[in-house]
Amino acid sequence: MKRIGVLTSGGDSPGMNAGIRAVVRAGTYHGIEVMGIHRGYQGLLDGDITLLGPRDVSGIINRGGTILRTARCKPFYEVEGRATAAAQMTAHYLDGLVVIGGDGSYHGALALHEEHGIPCIGMPGTIDNDIGGTDYTIGFDTAMNTAMKAIDNLRDTAASHDRIFFVEVMGRECGQLAMIAGLAGGAEDILIPESLTEISDVIAVLRNGRAAGKSSMIIVVAEGDDAGDAFAVSKAIAAESEFKDTRVTVLGHLQRGGSPTAFDRVLASRMGVHAVDALLQGESGKMVGIQSQDIVLCPLASAWEKKSSFDEDMLRAARILGT
Ligand code: ADP
Repeated sequence: MKRIGVLTSGGDSPGMNAGIRAVVRAGTYHGIEVMGIHRGYQGLLDGDITLLGPRDVSGIINRGGTILRTARCKPFYEVEGRATAAAQMTAHYLDGLVVIGGDGSYHGALALHEEHGIPCIGMPGTIDNDIGGTDYTIGFDTAMNTAMKAIDNLRDTAASHDRIFFVEVMGRECGQLAMIAGLAGGAEDILIPESLTEISDVIAVLRNGRAAGKSSMIIVVAEGDDAGDAFAVSKAIAAESEFKDTRVTVLGHLQRGGSPTAFDRVLASRMGVHAVDALLQGESGKMVGIQSQDIVLCPLASAWEKKSSFDEDMLRAARILGT
């Protein structure tokens, strides 16, 4: 193996740059050239590929986002699109590929591996922590802390004005980000898709809070909650109760940005070194993960076949402590 490519794909997450840096520096250490592919699979199709030396990745370990940028690429869903990508790999003498992204990006990598025999290794980059085979994804820890700090800030204003806030946290169909940010931020209740939401239960939490002397309260709502988003929940509560004057804050893409935490930088760095090792050892169709502090290699399909299970205990703790 003489030359490999690295790309970031799908939603960006803080720590992707640390991952790119690790792949470039580890590749260089082993005498391999590393090419940066811009804008995910779209850049691979377009041949938007440049050599990345160790100095090209200086000063990026602390930066959020991705210097390679990312994109969603429709043609890659089709066999013909992937054939073009494989041809570009050959034209640029790329012997292997590291894909930093979510499970959608892994589906693409697996297809490239199965249809064209291209050695592909995935690194989990998403703030949602919704990938099986790994306890943590790159970016989750940073996003969790960002969401927690936002809740802290809202608490200040909520307390000053005796207000009830509904705070919407990202995570798609996964409620982990909302649950942990809510627990760490001391929210009164946390609504997540993994647990059925009854509006009457949320009203009971608010009434109990008021009866216990709380003048301000914070309810965290995961964006994918079964009762709807934070606006829908606040509307339903206003319609069915005396809590008519509440505030909604959608944290949105704020959670995607910012300088990565030490945890995410270290995770991305360890995973990048391991991904290059895996390619050198002839592995393909695998993803790098972290399980009980160990960096491991497992099939790409673990990403969607073994989704991390919902921690009921943590939600219980959050609800006990939110009273
Ligand atoms: P993420 O990787 O964050 O889950 P997406 O689901 O948007 O983000 O996937 C990113 C890109 O990966 C898509 O734009 C597409 O190019 C490719 N991709 C996603 N799913 C598939 C699939 N089933 N087959 C082939 N390529 C896919």
